[in-house]
Amino acid sequence: MKIGILGLGLIGGSLGFDLRSQGHDVLGVSRRESTCQKAVALGNVDEASINLSLLAGTDVVFICTPISLIVPQVEQLIHHLSLTTVVTDVGSVKAPIVQAISPLWDYFIGGHPMAGTADSGIEAAQRHLFVDRPYVLTPTTTTPTMAITVVEEIVRSLGAKIYYCQPEQHDRAVSWISHLPVMVSAALIAACMGETDPEVLQLAQNLASSGFRDTSRVGGGNPELGVMMARYNRQALLGSLQQYRHNLDELIHLIEQENWALLEQNLQSNQQARPNFVE
Ligand code: NAP
Repeated sequence: MKIGILGLGLIGGSLGFDLRSQGHDVLGVSRRESTCQKAVALGNVDEASINLSLLAGTDVVFICTPISLIVPQVEQLIHHLSLTTVVTDVGSVKAPIVQAISPLWDYFIGGHPMAGTADSGIEAAQRHLFVDRPYVLTPTTTTPTMAITVVEEIVRSLGAKIYYCQPEQHDRAVSWISHLPVMVSAALIAACMGETDPEVLQLAQNLASSGFRDTSRVGGGNPELGVMMARYNRQALLGSLQQYRHNLDELIHLIEQENWALLEQNLQSNQQARPNFVE
């Protein structure tokens, strides 16, 4: 198959590695000429260019640019494609992207591989990044079966676990397990920095160990990613944050009331629930 990748970074480059190793003809387009040259030299793609016209004649195109560029890029790309080229994206938020692209291109299906690292750019690309990772596909009622089948087969060949859902369901689900934790963890760091005694603050920083490392990791990450989550998944994230505030208030109330029995019951049910999210 002739497969196009638009945006040669961590996700696009990793896809290129695996698709090439399966014998597909992989054509890449990226913003910088230097990235195109690296992608060919590293073996992510067979050919690369900064011109979208390279993707004319492809059977499928994966859009792997930063979220804010996905829709504008598709608007330009479709002028170069034949009418039945399947287009899919890897953006971490689905509803706004699917809503904007579906009226523009019949053979579009939204996707989101739940895989990644803290690094970015073509040098961060890895082989087998998607093996055993969830990969969400969000067809709508009008998505042609052919588009679903083509993307499903490619995603399956990457070794990923496929999940189907509606774009809005995807956004609510990732709000709970990905976007809310970033905001909660960021607020945790900010709260600690609110300690007014500099000696106590210094002591806390010296004593911080694995518990703080685990709970502060996602809140201390790339600020651009956090803003992207809030901006493109605003409604779902606000809903999750409001529910979180409610749970926090409940804990405060129990501690104020010294209701240790109910607090223990609360913590016990959380202990039981956690394995449903992470093994
Ligand atoms: P990344 O490593 O920064 O890669 C994005 C690439 O897009 C950059 O390397 C850049 O290449 C290229 N690009 C930027 N502007 C462009 C333009 N105007 N035209 C063509 N290419 C352009 O980011 P990423 O982590 O792969 O993320 C890409 C997408 O995957 C995002 O939509 C994100 O939501 C999604 N995603 C990310 C993860 C994750 O954990 N990182 C997981 C799942 C999904 P140049 O070097 O040429 O500038």
